[in-house]
Amino acid sequence: GSVFSNVVQAPEDPILGVTVAYNKDTSPLKLNLGVGAYRTEEGKPLVLNVVRKAEQHLVNDSSRVKEYLPIVGLADFNKLSAKLILGDDSPAIRENRVTTVQCLSGTGSLRVGGEFLARHYHERTIYLPKPTWGNHIKVFNLAGLTVKNYSYYDPSTRGLNFQGLLEDLGSAPPGAIILLHACAHNPTGVDPTPQQWEQIRHLMRSRSLLPFFDSAYQGFASGSLDQDAQPVRMFVADGGECLIAQSYAKNMGLYGERVGALSIVCKASDVASRVESQLKLVIRPMYSNPPIHGASIVATILKDSNLYQEWTVELKAMADRIITMRQKLFDALREKGTPGDWSHIIKQIGMFTFTGLNSEQVAFMTKEYHIYMTSDGRISMAGLSSRTVPHLADAIHSAVT
Ligand code: PLP
Repeated sequence: GSVFSNVVQAPEDPILGVTVAYNKDTSPLKLNLGVGAYRTEEGKPLVLNVVRKAEQHLVNDSSRVKEYLPIVGLADFNKLSAKLILGDDSPAIRENRVTTVQCLSGTGSLRVGGEFLARHYHERTIYLPKPTWGNHIKVFNLAGLTVKNYSYYDPSTRGLNFQGLLEDLGSAPPGAIILLHACAHNPTGVDPTPQQWEQIRHLMRSRSLLPFFDSAYQGFASGSLDQDAQPVRMFVADGGECLIAQSYAKNMGLYGERVGALSIVCKASDVASRVESQLKLVIRPMYSNPPIHGASIVATILKDSNLYQEWTVELKAMADRIITMRQKLFDALREKGTPGDWSHIIKQIGMFTFTGLNSEQVAFMTKEYHIYMTSDGRISMAGLSSRTVPHLADAIHSAVT
C-alpha cells in the first residue's frame, strides 16, 4: 500500500470549487457567477490593451534579463505601488516612513503581513468583518494570529451594521489588528460612507487599534483609483501606522501573474527600514523572492503617463460595465414582479452582489438553471452580460416564488 493511503480527500475550496463544478456541467446554459474574475459582454476573460502594450515593451527590450529579483521585489514597482494607494503627494512616502515589498498578489501580501505581525507585534488578535472573504480566516490563522470578527453586515437591511461595528471595535482589546476592506467589500458589496469611515478612523485611533487594509479592488468600485483609495489615505493622513495589502489581479486583470504589494506605513523612517529587514526574513524561507514578469508589466504602466492614462480608461470601462449589469438585473427583476426589495443590487459596490438568496435557493438555481455561485448567495456581477441577465432573473424569480 501507499505510505499516503491514510490521506483523506479534502473538500474543494468553497470559492474555487464553484468553478470546478461549473467546468463539469455540460449544459449550454451554464453560467459561472462564482469566481471574482472580470468577463467581457461576450463572457470572455479580458487582457487589457495597456497590458498587451506593456508586454510588447518588455519583449522588445533586449536588455531585459531573467535574473532573480531582490527578496523584496522590483524597486520601481514597490515605489509606484505605494504612490498608487497613498497618493502622489503622500507625506508618509516623502518622509520615507513606508516600506513596500512585492508579494504574490493580494493573498501573498496578506500572508506576509500576517506573519510579520505574528512575530513582531504585541497583540496577536486580528478582527475580520463578518462576513469576509473566506480565505482571510485561513491566511491569518496560518500566519499565527488569533482570528475574531466584528459586526459588519446587517441581513435585514442588506447594508452596513454600523452600530454593531462601532460597538465591536470599541470593545476590542487595545492594539488589536483590524482587517478593513479598503473598498468594494467582498462578499457583501457594502462599504461605509466617507463620514462613517471618519468615525471608524477616530474610534480606531483613540483605542490604538492597528488597521490592516486589504485593497483588492482599487478602481473597481467607483471607476476612480483615487476615490477608491480615500479610506486608506484618511488613515495615513493622521500620521498613524497601518498595513496595506494591494492586488493587481482585478484592477489590471493580472490574476494569474500573482502581482501585489504589502506596504507598512510607520511613524519614522528608521522604524520602516527595520521593519523591511524583518519582512525579508519572512519572505526568504517562504518563496525566496517574487516573480519578475507581472511586476514589470505594472511598473511599465505606472511609470509612463500615457500608459497610465490608458489604464484608467480601461479600468473605468470595466467598473462601468459592472454597474450597468447591476441596473439591468435590477430592472429585469422589477419587470418580472419578483417579490422582495432588490434595491441592494444597485446600492452595493464593486464586483459582487450579496443577493440574500440562501443556500437552498442557490442549490436550486444551480440544479435547475445551471447557474453557479457561492452558497452564501454572492454573485459576481463581472461574470454577467446583457445576454445572460434574463436567464439569471428567471432563476432568481423561480427560486424565491
Ligand atoms: N482580498 C479580497 C477581499 C479578495 O476578494 C481577493 C480576491 O478575490 C483577494 C484579497 C486576493 O486576491 P489575489 O490573491 O488574487 O490578489
